[in-house]
Amino acid sequence: MNLSKLFGLQRKLDEHIEQEHPRHEGEDRLAKKILALYSELGELLNEWRRFKFWTHDQEPRFGGYCGCDDGYVDIYLGHGEVGQKLCPQCEGEGTLPNRVLEEFADCFHFLLSIGIELNFTDIDVWEVKEKTTTNQFIECFGRAYNMYIQISVTGEVPREMYEHLFAYFIGLGEMLGFSWVEIEQAYLEKNKINHERQESGY
Ligand SMILES: [Mg+2]
Ligand SMILES: [Zn+2]
Repeated sequence: MNLSKLFGLQRKLDEHIEQEHPRHEGEDRLAKKILALYSELGELLNEWRRFKFWTHDQEPRFGGYCGCDDGYVDIYLGHGEVGQKLCPQCEGEGTLPNRVLEEFADCFHFLLSIGIELNFTDIDVWEVKEKTTTNQFIECFGRAYNMYIQISVTGEVPREMYEHLFAYFIGLGEMLGFSWVEIEQAYLEKNKINHERQESGY
């Protein structure tokens, strides 16, 4: 796992974002990055779905074969005629994107950006795993909150606190079934898209 490469790429992206969206005086970007991480964790949860005990559709959106007719679905045109239109699920690709992995990469973006904000880019990496993925998610939220409350009270965050948050994300990625190569690839793709978004006045 080449973390220094990822921190380097995130730093470049952060600089690009700062250029397009300069900080206001007194703006608490760390708090916003923590909230952004929460927001992406929420998106990740919605693609993972396994905690949604109230529905039968608890299948994680891991992507794969779409099941439509080569990217097309039938539409009824009236008068007994049937036509075809691009499948709204896969948009003609025939395969579905791995949205769980995509959202995990979005989380990783803010996780790295928080490290940069705190100047913790040379960190020890380990892995923590709770009993269930549900608990793991809650810990990810909790560890980020711990940092927020720590900095509010004492004005600083110990490096181990960030490393702990990181360790929970490493564990989460593994519990979701992703290899480090997959995570890195997904992160690189999204990093590129994020640069393009900044270029186009996002
Ligand atoms: Mg997202
Ligand atoms: Zn399809």
